[in-house]
Amino acid sequence: MTTTTTEPQQDPRHQIAIPGPHPAVERLRHLVGNGSVDTVLLALPDMAGAWRGKSLSATAFLDRIEAGAPGWPLCSYVLATDPDMNLYDDFALTSLSTGLHDLMLRPDLDTLRVLPWRESTAVIVADAVNPSGHPIAVAPRQMLRDQIGLLAEHGLTTHVGFEAEWTVFQGTADRIARTGQFHPISARSLDLALDHPPAIEAYMEELRFGLREAELMVRTIQTEHGPGQFEVTFPPRDPLAAADTHLVLQDAVRRCATAAGWTALWMAAPITGGATSGVHVHLSLHHIDGQPLVTSDGHRLPDVVEHAIAGLLDALPDLAPLYAPYPNSYKRYRPDTGAPTRFVWGTDNRTCAVRVVNHGDGVHWEVRVAGADANAYLVLAAILAAIRHGIDHKLDLPKPCVGNAYLDAADAPQVPRTLTEALTAFHDSTLPGRLFTERVAQHYATAAEHTLDAHHRTVTDIELRHALGT
Ligand code: GLU
Ligand code: MG
Repeated sequence: MTTTTTEPQQDPRHQIAIPGPHPAVERLRHLVGNGSVDTVLLALPDMAGAWRGKSLSATAFLDRIEAGAPGWPLCSYVLATDPDMNLYDDFALTSLSTGLHDLMLRPDLDTLRVLPWRESTAVIVADAVNPSGHPIAVAPRQMLRDQIGLLAEHGLTTHVGFEAEWTVFQGTADRIARTGQFHPISARSLDLALDHPPAIEAYMEELRFGLREAELMVRTIQTEHGPGQFEVTFPPRDPLAAADTHLVLQDAVRRCATAAGWTALWMAAPITGGATSGVHVHLSLHHIDGQPLVTSDGHRLPDVVEHAIAGLLDALPDLAPLYAPYPNSYKRYRPDTGAPTRFVWGTDNRTCAVRVVNHGDGVHWEVRVAGADANAYLVLAAILAAIRHGIDHKLDLPKPCVGNAYLDAADAPQVPRTLTEALTAFHDSTLPGRLFTERVAQHYATAAEHTLDAHHRTVTDIELRHALGT
């Protein structure tokens, strides 16, 4: 069994800069010197989209960088586990039987960012490479890098803006777990309100202030449709930066809620029958030099955009474990929630999986399939892969859905209703292997199997309620 990837290093898709002289080093020295930073989180996005890695003394970090260190060692199992950090022996990347070797965290110095909601702390996002410097193909950030590189080979790039939703509950996570009481911080919908109860206003202000200090350009922060639900949107940027930004946002959202005595949940369906939370991806396709793709006659979408959207509708049904990784993710795909149930597209139609928007910022489209629990890197990797699939095969765009897709699109492919259905489609299709390599597809199929197994073994509150007759 091999333990590391063997892709050739000269492949442009795998370029990860070796740390060296960089303006971020100078800047970090300055921040350490004036006392604003003493800790650096060297953060690897794991399979669940959480940061894992090293919390380092900022001075020690700088000293090692300036001494030319190629990276920091970390046990490879962080990329072969589940959210409970259970160990498994059936991931090809690493296991007990292969000795749980180290991978190396290689800092991407461009990502240096101070996190004002933590004490004197900055984050630097890391890529995972093996000790000889080759990228680890199953690392979510690497999967996105690969898909960006493959699209670039077509002379294309995307501009991406996330629209992220989450829900905030009263009390600490401990208290909620102890009492089982899940009460959103507002009793009713405050959707699009411009006047909020003072505590909610203060939370939004804290978040806005923190993100601005962290140099994150937020476009909007608002209360959303569900009680206790919020939404942030960001302006478009390159996909890797957009995904990095999303993880910083998740940290800010959680920390600011905790500071207020609350608990923020990035869950797709946090309340039975209640509002669901998505991570919608707004994106546009551009020539690699940044020029937008223009319509030929001012009405039709350019052919390449039509193929791209057709690719999303054709491939996303088979890639769901990448953007809907948990059983809870599928509880979001219900009629009338704003989450899609059918793979259809429409012009400014929020009942569709893909909503084409032809006003405001110009032509772009919104992919509405991913839930708040998704890993931003994997969501984007799946989307870019699906776009490339459509372009490669010059897929024809089906007719748009002009009505209510929950009712009127019964002939279109259905969004998988469970993780089991999604995993079956992922297994049965040749697309995951073709778009991501067999090795990567197998890694994520294995992860989904373990997730499902854990859920199948877990006694849930509905079972207890039925038994108790309550
Ligand atoms: N909350 C909805 C979802 O789960 C989307 C609402 C909206 O259109 O912003 O995707
Ligand atoms: Mg929304």
